[in-house]
Amino acid sequence: MDHSATTPVDLRALQAMEPYLTEEYGNPSSIHRMGQAARNGVETAREQVARLINAAPAEIIFTSGGTEANNLAILGLIEAMPPQGQHIITSAVEHHAVLDVFTYLGRKGYDVTILPVNRYGMVEPETLERAMKPNTALVSIMHANNEIGTIQPIKQLAAIARHRGAVFHTDAVQSVGRIPVDVKDLGVDMLSCSSHKLYGPKGVGCLYIKKGTRLARRVYGGSQERKLRSGTENVPGIVGFGAAADIAGKRMSETMERLSDFGRYLSGSLQRLIPDTILTGDPVNRLPGHVSLCFKYVEGESILLMLDQMGIMASSGSACTSGSLDPSHVLLAIGLPHEVAHGSIRLSLGRSNTREEVDYVVQVLPGIIERLRMMSPMAEEGKI
Ligand SMILES: *Cc1c(COP(=O)(O)O)cnc(C)c1O
Repeated sequence: MDHSATTPVDLRALQAMEPYLTEEYGNPSSIHRMGQAARNGVETAREQVARLINAAPAEIIFTSGGTEANNLAILGLIEAMPPQGQHIITSAVEHHAVLDVFTYLGRKGYDVTILPVNRYGMVEPETLERAMKPNTALVSIMHANNEIGTIQPIKQLAAIARHRGAVFHTDAVQSVGRIPVDVKDLGVDMLSCSSHKLYGPKGVGCLYIKKGTRLARRVYGGSQERKLRSGTENVPGIVGFGAAADIAGKRMSETMERLSDFGRYLSGSLQRLIPDTILTGDPVNRLPGHVSLCFKYVEGESILLMLDQMGIMASSGSACTSGSLDPSHVLLAIGLPHEVAHGSIRLSLGRSNTREEVDYVVQVLPGIIERLRMMSPMAEEGKI
């Protein structure tokens, strides 16, 4: 129940990778036969990934994952422009792989605007419209949120940026492979994706860069990936990513339908069976099979530990393990009070989940919350 954290490698993707680890282990930059076989593997994967998001293969730059794609998009664009007076915009609910880059640029002296979101975690187009300045160079707003599943109105947001001459980037790591993503329809200039969120191997991803968008390189060395990302390509990883992208495209509508059903059932049942439960994120515009809830008067981490004992793996937006007692920036951005945000959990379903597993969660979770509330001093204050 934690597919937004990562997914297993699809067996067909694994099979596609295997020859490139053993027989066809050539360096794609080599002229000889084995080098060319590796080159063909990489270029086939580029076509497969491009097809999934309706891009041209030449617009795909392979990276080590979503994090690096976000860094390349933002820092690469900024470095390609004159440093003076640039204004850049992002949202308060971004993944840290975007937010921390903006924090860094803010410290370097760039004019940074972090847009608020509404209570569903959505950036309202008027909010962006008002924040745009004549010198706004870049707007980066994620497609689907990893914690609360909200899908942003990217098409409208990108159109606003484009009309004002700013470049628009979106972190689409959670959406590519799960819902239809079409870079032309969305009207974005740059889009990040990651292989391990769509049943490909970890450590590989890509940045879509619309033809004509100028970026500075982030990694110096050889001239791989149109000189934007030097270093010998992760050939098996890229091949696996391509195969996984191909499979994701073919299975998308069937998987979406099934996971949406499961998600609605899970979310509805838990809200009905457990009092003082809040669904976080947008009730309608959200990732299929993504259920994020806050249970008042309990700690998300305690819920996770008890779920884990019952064989259910989920995650939480309260980050006690990371040494900070603050709940996630996303839950605070949608206006939840600290004490409510502390009781958050995220159940993110994937291809292999069955109806029986979903039923098992519905069977087990209410008892866990009840037991935790009986032990909770917060519950006494809340008078239940
Ligand atoms: C997982 C994730 C990332 C990071 O991708 P990696 O490939 O793990 O580096 C970035 N953004 C979002 C929204 C994510 O969910």
